[in-house]
Amino acid sequence: MASRSDPLGSPRKAPPAAAGAGSAPGSASKSQPQKALEKLGLRRDIDLALHLPLRYEDETRITRLADARDGDMVQIEGQVTHSEVTFRPRRQLRVTLDDGSDTCVLRFINFYPSHQKTLSVGARVRVRGELRGGFVGREMVHPAFRAAGGELATALTPVYPTVAGLPQAYLRKAVLSGLARADLTETLPEKISSKNLPQPLSSMREALSFLHQPTPDVLLATLEDRSHPAWQRLKAEELLAQQLSQLQARRVRAAMRAPALAAPLMRGTQCTLHDQLLERLPFRLTAAQQRVGAEIDADLKKNLPMHRLLQGDVGSGKTVVAALAAARCMDAGWQCALMAPTEILAEQHFRKLIGWLEPLGIQTAWLTGSQKAKERREALAMIESGAAGLVVGTHAVIQDKVIFKNLALAIIDEQHRFGVAQRLALRSKMTQGGEEPHLLMMTATPIPRTLAMSYYADLDVSTIDELPPGRTPIVTKVVAEARRDEVVERIRGQIAQGRQVYWVCPLIEESEAIDLTNATQTHEALTAALPGTQVGLLHSRMPTAEKKAVMSLFTSGQLGVLVSTTVIEVGVDVSNASLMVIEHAERFGLSQLHQLRGRVGRGAAASACVLLYSTGEAPRLGETARARLKAMAETQDGFEIARRDLEIRGPGEFLGARQSGAPLLRFADLATDTALLAWARSLAPVMLDKHAELAHRHILRWLGGKAEFLKA
Ligand code: ADP
Ligand code: MG
Repeated sequence: MASRSDPLGSPRKAPPAAAGAGSAPGSASKSQPQKALEKLGLRRDIDLALHLPLRYEDETRITRLADARDGDMVQIEGQVTHSEVTFRPRRQLRVTLDDGSDTCVLRFINFYPSHQKTLSVGARVRVRGELRGGFVGREMVHPAFRAAGGELATALTPVYPTVAGLPQAYLRKAVLSGLARADLTETLPEKISSKNLPQPLSSMREALSFLHQPTPDVLLATLEDRSHPAWQRLKAEELLAQQLSQLQARRVRAAMRAPALAAPLMRGTQCTLHDQLLERLPFRLTAAQQRVGAEIDADLKKNLPMHRLLQGDVGSGKTVVAALAAARCMDAGWQCALMAPTEILAEQHFRKLIGWLEPLGIQTAWLTGSQKAKERREALAMIESGAAGLVVGTHAVIQDKVIFKNLALAIIDEQHRFGVAQRLALRSKMTQGGEEPHLLMMTATPIPRTLAMSYYADLDVSTIDELPPGRTPIVTKVVAEARRDEVVERIRGQIAQGRQVYWVCPLIEESEAIDLTNATQTHEALTAALPGTQVGLLHSRMPTAEKKAVMSLFTSGQLGVLVSTTVIEVGVDVSNASLMVIEHAERFGLSQLHQLRGRVGRGAAASACVLLYSTGEAPRLGETARARLKAMAETQDGFEIARRDLEIRGPGEFLGARQSGAPLLRFADLATDTALLAWARSLAPVMLDKHAELAHRHILRWLGGKAEFLKA
């Protein structure tokens, strides 16, 4: 696909002096392209060498006009038979070119006298551009051109991804000189480099040189689908770098120490906190909860820092597993911290945990950005003295002023909502003798297996793959906005049965104001439509105290319906709620929809989720929105949802949203490059053990300074 927006090395945006050729690096305009290079992240030679072409142009041959088809990128040579400046529809230079087989028109909106001179009648010129079927015949708009004759290129011409202010010609030169200078000495150990691969790997220098300047005989399709051996080498390199860095991070962690949290020996009938908590729970743990609990216990007993992700679908009961881990930690005489991304979520955990732990004599401290100074001072004192065994809060937990007496376990709920830096900060809260705290991260958005294998090789994963018994499946309906009245009728039905309803309003990220209007209008409309029912409103602009008040009215059952704009408050737990309506569901991401739906179906009552969609001005729903809603209607399994989400969005975006800072794969594709991934996985430990120097150089080449992030 030829993009019209990138400057094809044509004179379209170049200054007069540069007609026909790009301005060279080192000219007066040097600083702007230099800045643009930085903006693209092209600082080191290796970065330039790895900046690969979007596509290629063929300047190795001259095509006869009669042989070219509309839409082709071609180079032709011929004589100018006509040249004029016209003013309709706007000022432009129109030139007719005859190559003996046919004619075509060249059109220039921006042109200088020097252009006109080169393109004057009788001149023989070589032009290159996209041939289009025009109004009055075939034409090229703003082709690159120069005098005819001269040598033909011997390699295809690369066209690079670029930004404004960085002409192709400049970028091309920069890339080629970066490539020439880059250290591409072999980092793959000689004997094993191609073992278990379908084809031997070429050298990295060969591969990159080829990708930047392929010989004209190459099958372009093998470059496009990245199956060419040069691509294979590049992808193998990239996957290896990723596996090496993950494994290295894992080994760095294995060299660190954490307090071993073995339970103290108990005498007589006195029982551990852990067992007392277990005994007092109003339910029995599911088999899955017991299994992950045992996995966590085994980690905590070791003097290696745990680095475990607890994944379990919404409602699968992660909180109680976290509470049991906290009890283990306190049994051993250490402190535990639990951090959640929003205040409502943190407070919910706090209430639940004090309900479970206070009767057992545990003091819990509460930390949040919005609390009063006095309250905060008291909490800080309890944390520092060790009086508080458990600390629950928001980001406030990781502030500098918070000093733990002896933190040994950090639990992070909805871990993907926190950045790498925040996780590192929480870990650094442990100060004793160079030890690290154990880390338990929880998520309701499971990671598909292929991603877990590659991105999270440095993470142990525990999975709760079963819901507590007695839950009835949630029926999901996708309903057009036009049928809103029927939905309101449905709400009436639920209210009549003493149930409660969530109504989530559209998320328009650009405009909180519009969000608010929508929610307010819906709130008014529902209040009018449901006389005798209390309808509450919750939105992101409300002060925290007010939000809490509304939330507690809903929790206590005084509100029948809760209209909310805040999709952030995932995790709220009101088991009497049996209907979830999501307005403009087409605007939400798949995992968000799944999380929202998980707010219902928490009790034994039959629950439903209505996805109201609107096509707005458009005649029908967009393709990805349709795919998302379809997935929601078809499955309730969080793992399946995650798999489809990955399919719809691709791994880059999927992970990008989860974990800022993690280097993503630029070249390899986990779905198709499974053989290369397996190769990289098996090679990584061998390289670290036997070829440490090569491994180090390899990681540096690919990750530069970013490797730090992998430790979080
Ligand atoms: P999530 O995994 O989404 O964080 P929660 O921990 O909030 O789920 O649990 C959802 C609900 O299920 C809570 O009300 C919790 O008390 C309850 N629950 C947890 N485990 C069990 C169980 N084994 N049996 C019955 N109910 C349970
Ligand atoms: Mg939860």
